[in-house]
Amino acid sequence: MSVDPHHQETYEQVLAHLKGKQIRLTETRKAIIAYMIEAHHHPSAEQIFHDLQDQYTHMSLATVYNNLRILIEEGFVSEVKVSNDNTTYFDFMGHDHLHVVCEICGNITDFMDADTSLLVKEAEQKTGYQVTKNQFLIYGVCPACSLKK
Ligand SMILES: [Zn+2]
Ligand SMILES: [Zn+2]
Repeated sequence: MSVDPHHQETYEQVLAHLKGKQIRLTETRKAIIAYMIEAHHHPSAEQIFHDLQDQYTHMSLATVYNNLRILIEEGFVSEVKVSNDNTTYFDFMGHDHLHVVCEICGNITDFMDADTSLLVKEAEQKTGYQVTKNQFLIYGVCPACSLKK
């Protein structure tokens, strides 16, 4: 699996980072990284496994989970959990964005360049906490579901 030319730099940065941490770059690991960089649909682990298993026949669902866990620990992938849905979705954090979730069909849409820095700063000022991470989710009804009503 290879990445789109304009994602090549990101891909190489991730590989270089993992290499620096002595994390072995197996073919399946590289495939999962490339998949996550290219994915724009917030896949579940099962979906990633399903999409890659034809090409990487020796890969198991456990391998996918194991790799996602490493990418989360290294800060390259985030988990997206949506209420009323037990599935965990995964997202590559190449760009600052928030998620807007459809309460009817469960679709997750990226809201790009969302700036939450003011809210975080205010939270720190008002609570005295030093914020280390944050999770924002916005729920609504997507345009397609709005039309069906
Ligand atoms: Zn919808
Ligand atoms: Zn996203």
